[in-house]
Amino acid sequence: MRDVIVIGLGPAGSTAARIASEQGLNVLGIDKAVFPRHKPCAAGLTARACRLLPMHESEYLEQKVHSIRIYMGMNKHIDLTDSEPVMITSKRETLDTALLRRAIQVGTEVMEDCRVKSLQVESGGVIVRTTRGNLKARFVIGCDGVNSTARKALHSRRQPSLPAWEAEVEIPDSDDKELARTVHFDLSCSYKGYGWIFPKKESISVGVAGNYVNRAQIDHAFNKMLMHLTKNTQTLQITRQCGHLLPLFTISNYISGNRVLLAGDAAGLVDAFLGEGLYYALVSGEIAGQWVVVNTHKYVPDYSNYRTELMQKVGRELIISKRLASIVYGMRQMMFYLAEKKPFILKEFSRALSQTDGYTAFVRNLPIPWRLYFWNV
Ligand SMILES: Cc1cc2nc3c(=O)[nH]c(=O)nc-3n(C[C@H](O)[C@H](O)[C@H](O)COP(=O)(O)OP(=O)(O)OC[C@H]3O[C@@H](n4cnc5c(N)ncnc54)[C@H](O)[C@@H]3O)c2cc1C
Repeated sequence: MRDVIVIGLGPAGSTAARIASEQGLNVLGIDKAVFPRHKPCAAGLTARACRLLPMHESEYLEQKVHSIRIYMGMNKHIDLTDSEPVMITSKRETLDTALLRRAIQVGTEVMEDCRVKSLQVESGGVIVRTTRGNLKARFVIGCDGVNSTARKALHSRRQPSLPAWEAEVEIPDSDDKELARTVHFDLSCSYKGYGWIFPKKESISVGVAGNYVNRAQIDHAFNKMLMHLTKNTQTLQITRQCGHLLPLFTISNYISGNRVLLAGDAAGLVDAFLGEGLYYALVSGEIAGQWVVVNTHKYVPDYSNYRTELMQKVGRELIISKRLASIVYGMRQMMFYLAEKKPFILKEFSRALSQTDGYTAFVRNLPIPWRLYFWNV
């Protein structure tokens, strides 16, 4: 019997597996995909997320971006340029493969092309039923993304989620030379969400996420984003596109118990304002890995500890992001007007996100009347 089986080897899973293997546990990582694999994601990293990565930036870096442009429709926009990078872009194929390689180097055994079908919790361990047979471990860390199978063992409700659409587009010939060097957000193209353009080395990630109810709404929003690249969108070379779900954090959901812990998207750890999930996947993977190290040989494992530590590290950030999302996306015109009139807000925001407690620091520095919106967080 293994000490731990980690299901899903994205950023949360590879991190959990690496941390547990480093401490000498017998860890098996399982993924239904074969790496390098694509995951629909814009792969924009904040500085705080990069600090958690165990490898040199040369292994994952696409571009360090110093400028942001925020649109409200086609013609109105605000620009911000900072001496510090406002975002680091990567590609999920390279980022996830580099993270997995680190886990393997410290002893994680890996089974690719192996789908987990269900879990059965027994006294002393968990049986993991997979397309390649049954396996057993003392604990399971479920890092299998938004449609998690591991979550079912905790009888946890399905996370609420937002539909998102992402495409890789070749950099168009454009008069706007900043296009391939600037992160673009458009607040007007999605209901309760936004559209983005993130530059990579040789391509651009374009996408939208929002409270869409049908495919026509997604297509409409996505075409609006493409229009920022060129008026003649037919000429754009789209190399890959697909949809996926962005889970929304719900504080009441079970994330640990019954010999199973959830991390990353499986636990619903995505920021509701920016859709940032990579940072939370890395943090929760780290905490889950440490938790199994401490609890493997305990007679009565303390599951509440996992949630407590996670909430101490990222709970406030996730709650503030939810509140910001409801304020900003609920009053988009007014918020855009405010950001236009008070440029320090945007500057404070982009600086704050490089810090570990980014949203908390941002809210702390707001003028007092605005801070009242967050008084109980
Ligand atoms: C369109 C889009 C754009 C995004 N852009 C950003 C961004 O720019 N920045 C950011 O920070 N976040 C972004 N996110 C969020 C980010 O992608 C996720 O939060 C992040 O991938 C979560 O990592 P994870 O390790 O929890 O799960 P994942 O990366 O989803 O990994 C889950 C792994 O589990 C495997 N798996 C699933 N089911 C099974 C099974 N039954 N058996 C075995 N293996 C299984 C999958 O193959 C996969 O490898 C975006 C999300 C979307 C949808």
